[in-house]
Amino acid sequence: MMTTEPQPKKDTPPAPELHAAAQDINWGDFRDHLATADKDGKRRWIYARQPQGRYYQARTYVSWLLLAIMFVGPFIRINGNPLLMINIVTRRFAILGKIFWPQDMVIFAVAALVFLTGIIIFTTAFGRLWCGWTCPQTLLMEMVFRKIEYAIEGDAQTQRALAAAPWSVDKVVRKAFKHAVFFGLSFLISNTLLSYIIGSDALIRIITESPLLHLQGLGFMLLFTLVFYAIFARFREQACTFICPYGRFQSAVLDENTLVVAYDRKRGEGRGPWRRDEPVAARRAAGKGDCVDCHQCVTVCPTGIDIRNGTQMECVNCTACIDACDTVMDKLNRPRGLVRFASQNSIERGGDFRITARMKGYGVVLAGLIALFLMLILSRTSIETIFLRAPGALFQPTGDGRIENIYTVKLINKTAQDLPVELKLENVAGELSVMGDPAILVPKEELAETSVLIKLAPSVLTGARTEVKVGVYANHKRLAVLNTTFIGPRTEPATPPAIEKTAPK
Ligand code: SF4
Ligand code: SF4
Repeated sequence: MMTTEPQPKKDTPPAPELHAAAQDINWGDFRDHLATADKDGKRRWIYARQPQGRYYQARTYVSWLLLAIMFVGPFIRINGNPLLMINIVTRRFAILGKIFWPQDMVIFAVAALVFLTGIIIFTTAFGRLWCGWTCPQTLLMEMVFRKIEYAIEGDAQTQRALAAAPWSVDKVVRKAFKHAVFFGLSFLISNTLLSYIIGSDALIRIITESPLLHLQGLGFMLLFTLVFYAIFARFREQACTFICPYGRFQSAVLDENTLVVAYDRKRGEGRGPWRRDEPVAARRAAGKGDCVDCHQCVTVCPTGIDIRNGTQMECVNCTACIDACDTVMDKLNRPRGLVRFASQNSIERGGDFRITARMKGYGVVLAGLIALFLMLILSRTSIETIFLRAPGALFQPTGDGRIENIYTVKLINKTAQDLPVELKLENVAGELSVMGDPAILVPKEELAETSVLIKLAPSVLTGARTEVKVGVYANHKRLAVLNTTFIGPRTEPATPPAIEKTAPK
């Protein structure tokens, strides 16, 4: 029977033995140990070959964009506020130029739920695409540190040979230079992280002022630098496989409909080298598939796994193995996609990606949380006010026959402008006066505290406790109405008329 399938090109890919040996791992016992550990639990260093292909190219462009945003982010300001700042020390947070305070904890909690639900949906649908394409750890490791390593030490094979070679001037120079560059980059990343925590202004002060004034800040700078250097120079893929909770969590949400980087075993098995003159039909008749067992997909893997063993926790969906296998398939003149983005179901049963009931359910929850989050953001006042009766203070009669109560007021200005604030009684006739300076000016992003006296005539009191509403105004606009109580004298109930007792006859 004639076959319409294309025949392999003459230049078949390199022999599999070479690449299996290059990675020096027995892939048959993958379930018994991590790819990055030998049977004694000792670390196996991964010398990942540099991928080439359309996905790697796209990842390079994506990484440029995301890394630029990451490094420039702390210096971008919206309305004078940082784009993103998580200042745990002073408990001030900025997201997209809006300042948030600990009092906005509900918004933070809902935002965290939106984030978590979004991750669950995203992971359920697209697996660990986040890890391979957008996670700062992967981007910095694969697109910055790994590329520097290729530039200084050469490709994976040369790196392996250099590591095995005895110490020489060339080896010392290359290693020292690489680690110096790694340390410098770690210092830069540490500064960037610090600027997200304390703000870029504070970071610049630490850098430009006397070190003696900023010993604590410099200490953290050095600590972060050492941590990043350890991660990118030594720890590497172990951060994804051992430490990152997201990697563990994904196994709980992936299912057979999730899109993952997957090997099409129906098309690929049985594996085996492709003889130069072997027609496709003859290969099929011999029970052989398209996988030529060249291990190209393994040698590019930064976590050292063999994707042909199925979806594994160590896979960060970086797509390097897709590029590697596509290159092999091109050379064999076979269709690309032996390793591709696909769900387990689509490989087993055919068909395209479909939205499952689980995804729809998560989507409904996410939509509800987003609506709640937007409602909280839109109803968030620019001034947060805490209005409390002064602790331990009782009511006082005034000289003009009225009763006065004293209150403590805390005003938090969440905006980037100074705000003149006015307080007014809303529901009772009386007098509200600010003690000290009567004009309350709350500086931008600051907290102001003052005391307030409220004087009411006994005729407006409704008992020992009278509900009072206080309006908070800024620039003649009412921002909030607060409820408090006014304490007055206890009014005695009217004495009932005495009942005349008559003596029994
Ligand atoms: S899946 Fe592709 S790259 Fe991997 S061994 Fe088979 S043919 Fe080679
Ligand atoms: S198996 Fe493929 S997608 Fe997964 S980490 Fe390795 S190279 Fe990346």
